[in-house]
Amino acid sequence: MKKGYFGSFGGMFVPELLVPPLAELEEAVNRIMPEKSFQEDIARIHKDFVGRPTPVYYCGNLSRELGFDLFLKREDLAHTGAHKINNTVGQALLARHMGKTCLLAETGAGQHGVATATAAAMLGLECMIFMGALDVERQSINVQRMELLGARVEAVKSGTRTLKDAINEALRYWIAHQQDTHYCLGSAVGPHPFPLLVRELQSVIGREAREQLLERTGRLPDKVVACVGGGSNAIGIFHPFVNDLKVQLVGIEAGGSGRTGDNHSATLAKGWPGVLHGTHSFLLQTPEGQLLPSHSIAPGLDYPGVGPEHSYLKDSGRAGYEVVHDHEALEAFRLLSGKEGIIPALESAHAVAWAISDRAGIEPGSQVLVNLSGRGDKDLNIFRKAEQDTEN
Ligand SMILES: *Cc1c(COP(=O)(O)O)cnc(C)c1O
Repeated sequence: MKKGYFGSFGGMFVPELLVPPLAELEEAVNRIMPEKSFQEDIARIHKDFVGRPTPVYYCGNLSRELGFDLFLKREDLAHTGAHKINNTVGQALLARHMGKTCLLAETGAGQHGVATATAAAMLGLECMIFMGALDVERQSINVQRMELLGARVEAVKSGTRTLKDAINEALRYWIAHQQDTHYCLGSAVGPHPFPLLVRELQSVIGREAREQLLERTGRLPDKVVACVGGGSNAIGIFHPFVNDLKVQLVGIEAGGSGRTGDNHSATLAKGWPGVLHGTHSFLLQTPEGQLLPSHSIAPGLDYPGVGPEHSYLKDSGRAGYEVVHDHEALEAFRLLSGKEGIIPALESAHAVAWAISDRAGIEPGSQVLVNLSGRGDKDLNIFRKAEQDTEN
């Protein structure tokens, strides 16, 4: 495959001023990450700081009802409550090896900002977070977390005052401060080398799960299921199974309310290829190529693009992508909590919802591995409000 591409997807569609820091990052990815000392450092951080390996949990109660074996990869038990920390500690360590002193990130709901600020604090780096002014208002607890962790949070007042405006500001800041600043991108999206870098850092999920399941059941799962926002937790669990052709890979996108005319985030199911944030991939756009707004009840899935490797996996047929609506995710949120004692993130609840739905058509006796990308404490307000709305 062409460098920086997954089939015809990926690439580096950026203004000229961003080419030097991206080239510097690519060089560091190729030179520093394979080094023994880097690998030893990351293994120690995973074990002592993140709490890896995260367990694979067998859902005994649900499996009895469903007639197949449901396993969860417990990324909700990773430090800060989701898989995002795997990416940020990896990029923070790489940044330090590159001699950078500051981590820069954008954040929407604040989860990636918190994970970045956490990694920066642990490795003694400064941290600068751009966040839409509207999101700063809506997510004040996460702003407090980031500030407590030592980050500076910059409220972006332009445009819709949300994630995409924060991304634009962060890129502007990076151009001006590339000498000492690493841009810690939050998902397997953006220009080369980010989709590759983030995949490498998140693949620890799939490597562990593959080994854990083999040891426990003596075989590989029939299906591996994960929710897809930008696609980092999904590519992280998929990648180590890609060459196991008998293992079906299923990515779950957010269908929003499902009413016609309403917004959703089903980029692969309902979008088509174009360029967004430096990469060629599927995206939600008008026939004229204008970006469409996205929506999901799960804040982490609310993104109108998707990582280029998922576009390739879809195109080549190696992975399938399905849509789950808000109300199904809410139902799975309640079900997993009540039946198994695990409150899932609303993002992860999309993956659970599909696996337990009739349309998944899972054969009795199968083994299904779902990536539980995060925990749901952060979503209790959204859940309660949705409950009240259906009652009224
Ligand atoms: C951010 C987030 C996601 C979506 O991001 P991906 O890059 O698609 O993994 C999914 N689950 C949780 C818990 C998240 O915080």
